[in-house]
Amino acid sequence: MTHSTSDLPAGGAAGFERVPVRAAEIGAGFTVARALPSARRRTVGAWCFLDHAGPVKFAPGGGMKVGPHPHIGLQTFTWMIDGEVLHRDSLGSEQLIRPGEVNLMTAGRGIAHSEESIDGTGGALHAAQLWIALPDAQRHCEPAFSHHPVLPALDAGGFRITVLVGDAFGLHAPPRVYSAPVGLDFVAQHGARSVLALDPGFEHALLCLSGRASVDGTPLDPEALLYVPPGRSGLKLAADPGCRLLLIGGAPLAAPPLIWWNFVACTADEIMAAADDWNAGRRFGAVTGTALARIAAPEVKSLKLRPERGR
Ligand code: MN
Repeated sequence: MTHSTSDLPAGGAAGFERVPVRAAEIGAGFTVARALPSARRRTVGAWCFLDHAGPVKFAPGGGMKVGPHPHIGLQTFTWMIDGEVLHRDSLGSEQLIRPGEVNLMTAGRGIAHSEESIDGTGGALHAAQLWIALPDAQRHCEPAFSHHPVLPALDAGGFRITVLVGDAFGLHAPPRVYSAPVGLDFVAQHGARSVLALDPGFEHALLCLSGRASVDGTPLDPEALLYVPPGRSGLKLAADPGCRLLLIGGAPLAAPPLIWWNFVACTADEIMAAADDWNAGRRFGAVTGTALARIAAPEVKSLKLRPERGR
């Protein structure tokens, strides 16, 4: 018999998976679109969390108001597209992040931070915040924070491409990461068409941050993440003028980590200890200078955590 499109698996010939984003409230009524983790997809390489905030305009007193809260076992990666957010952490860092800039916070064994929009007269916000799971050798490392005001960029195929994380197009992004993930931002300067080369050993995902695009003819919009499995050496990207796309990728993890609240770990015991320490005021230190209230960890003992990784 001959093959026709009806013989193709449900995911399509490309093996793409559409992973719908969902609304998540992150404090003071501010809602973001959460693409990872989801029931369908927990990780893309070591990327284990992806929140898309905005684009939104807000009244005075609005925007992002996330009080002090802890992290372990991950790096938070913030890519600011519009607006300004003030980061404070328990290392004493106080850093305003502006459009085109990146903040990278390495939690390791424990850090706490707050994030708030600077909005005396109201303002705008458009940002992506992601987490990268730390490999075992770094999971318990000393915490660190770095701010990156300039990221390498180039023009290719009708796109302005910024290398946010890792190496691409002969450029190296300065944020220090540990599991060789890649992160790229694409802005279509006019109607753009391009063939993007991929590492076939990596899995990837694309999210439209604004506008509309297509990947190998599959439509893409901000309502869903498009997962691209390993084995692909290239993708055809097409985008409407002004469209902005985020691409993340990396080698698939042998075993996905446990994620509970703001913690990434290997075992339930590590997570329960972190929650107990935060709620008891141990380990993480204090975030000073913010008027926002500290966020307590939810009750953890009643939760049923997976007993091991890789399920
Ligand atoms: Mn956080």
